[in-house]
Amino acid sequence: MSAYPSVKFLTSANDPRQFTADAGVEVAVAGRSNAGKSSAINAITQRKGLARTSKTPGATRLVNFFELEPGRRLVDLPGYGFAAVSGEMRSHWGTLIESFFQRRQSLRGVIVVMDVRRPLTDNDGDMLTLARSRGVPVHVLLTKSDKLGRGAAQKTLAQVRRDVGEAVTVQLFSAFSGSGVAEARGVLERMLDRKPEKETPVGPADPTGECKPGVGG
Ligand code: GDP
Repeated sequence: MSAYPSVKFLTSANDPRQFTADAGVEVAVAGRSNAGKSSAINAITQRKGLARTSKTPGATRLVNFFELEPGRRLVDLPGYGFAAVSGEMRSHWGTLIESFFQRRQSLRGVIVVMDVRRPLTDNDGDMLTLARSRGVPVHVLLTKSDKLGRGAAQKTLAQVRRDVGEAVTVQLFSAFSGSGVAEARGVLERMLDRKPEKETPVGPADPTGECKPGVGG
């Protein structure tokens, strides 16, 4: 069964005017083309084929909105950093992404997907800066971890953690082996549950307190 039984595709936007209504909460997923973003979205939602995986890097240049549950969305941002894309396309991409980060009040977190064998490219650095500029939690998935041996994967994880600093969380992930998928889903859930600073809680306090299930649960 899917982690989100009623998950559905809402809309694709090629222009900010086509973005879905800015109400409720959403988490954006970004990454270099071919880094494994679509596979990660499908694994986290347990819905094969929800986000289209492609053998052609750079094929998707749209912002795709998915509804996980009413009022809770996952936003698949177009992949970046593919050299064969024309300059005009790149600047269109930049404008689209920048207006997404500038406008969306419902944004609660950003997940940045990087191939564990090639993490932290210049474009990834720019994306982390853009994501952090919103002051929401930013989490990195080091995808395709099945491609590296355990020791090499752990070494990369430690190095990337050092490089991004404490403000950004990092984990290993494999859509193929399923390793790290539950952990990533936990992070997504915590981001979506996060209240914006100015929002005051409604209703009686939860007697169980603020504690959410631990990472990996
Ligand atoms: P996107 O362009 O970032 O959405 O990347 P895709 O999800 O389409 O994946 C790009 C390529 O990487 C495809 O050939 C996938 O089969 C492969 N891939 C994605 N995730 C994994 C993974 O966890 N392990 C391995 N070995 N390959 C993966």
